[in-house]
Formats: sequence, structure tokens, C-alpha cells
Amino acid sequence: MSTSLNILVIEDEEPLRIALVDALEAKGHRVSEAADGEQGLALALAEGPDIVLLDLMLPGRDGFSVLRELRRDRLAALVVILSARGEEWDRIQGFEYGADDYMVKPFSVRELMLRLDALGRRANGDVPGARDPVGRVRIGETLVDMAGYTAERNGERIGLSRRELELLEYFLRNEGQVVDRNAILNAVWGHDADPTPRTVDMHVLKLRKKLELEPDQPRHFITVRGVGYRFERR
Ligand code: CA
Repeated sequence: MSTSLNILVIEDEEPLRIALVDALEAKGHRVSEAADGEQGLALALAEGPDIVLLDLMLPGRDGFSVLRELRRDRLAALVVILSARGEEWDRIQGFEYGADDYMVKPFSVRELMLRLDALGRRANGDVPGARDPVGRVRIGETLVDMAGYTAERNGERIGLSRRELELLEYFLRNEGQVVDRNAILNAVWGHDADPTPRTVDMHVLKLRKKLELEPDQPRHFITVRGVGYRFERR
């Protein structure tokens, strides 16, 4: 997968930044780097990179602020957040500012390179099919990016949690069939703590809210009274 991309690395930890730049250049990408948010934002706006690797905790302007500004300027770059595990976790999961992927530090550079290959194919506009190679799937009017934890409808971005995506995966595999709550619980929650069938209902409600045009009159996540649900993609 040797697509050459323009990649901007915004990271203040010098050893990590150097490691990333080296690895990316070794793969034939053109790389720019910045050690703080202000400089990173300026470079992003000046160069219009394909992909931005964005640390969150940066001196001066932090990563969230950089991302917000990039999206405000309608920069089309795919943004991968590099974050230490910590309090910002929930905000990342929500992808409220429209990040395309994230890596939790410490991560392996090799794994990041694999993710970038997938994102690179996306940056180059390989799309189509019900489910494209990067795992995007269309549900009614909503396009769900399974790898990016986001959905998009009418230009609006919606964040999805890991569990919501796992549940959606299950529905996709069983499209058109009636599935009961316990089967869903076993498949999606497995041996986790103590979820109940009510947990499934709560998550289906969330999926409806995010993916249905009219959550109160679901067309995709359909209740089958006394049993569970049936999922229809169209
Ligand atoms: Ca940092």
C-alpha cells in the first residue's frame, strides 16, 4: 500500500515526533512537523495536508482547539488524534470535533502505519459499494464510518461509541432477521460485567437517535414485540 501522502505531524514530544517523521518518510510520504498547536495550525492551513497527526496536550493552543479551527476552515484533511490515556478520553470517543481516528499512547508506530494505509485509501477517494474497504456502510440516509467511529448525515458528524459500533456490526451481520435480546447480549457483550436485556434496549435507542432520520418511527432498528429487534439497512 504505497500511496504517497502529505502528512503533518503536530506533536511536542520530540522523540515521538522524530520517530513518526522518520517512519512516515521511510514509507515515501511527504512530512511536515510542528512542535506546538499554533505552528501546526498555520502549517495545516498553508499546506492543506491529506492527513494530520495531532497530539492533544500541546503547549499554547491544544489539539482540540487546533482541530476545531481546522474544521471551521473546512480543511478536508483526515485527522488522527494522538492522545495519552486520560481524562480527555470521553471527548475523543465522542469525536465532537470531527477527528477521523485516534491512537492512544503509547502506541506502536507499526500499528499507526497500518491505520494510515487505511486512511490513505480514504484520502484518495476509494469509496463505493454497500461497504467499502475501509468499512463505511450506508444505513438509509446516514453514512457510518465503522473504522472512524463516526456517522455522517446531511454534512453533520455524529460520534459513535465502540459498543454502539459493535452492536451495529451484529445487526449488519443479521440483517433482515429477528434477533432476540439475549442473543444480542451474548454476541455483543459476551462475558462483560452484568448487562441485562435492558442494556440492549438502551443501546438500540442510542443507535436510533444517531442513525435514524426519525428515531420515534424507526425504519432500520425495528422492535419485534416480545422478542427483540430486526434490522433493515434501507
Ligand atoms: Ca503532548
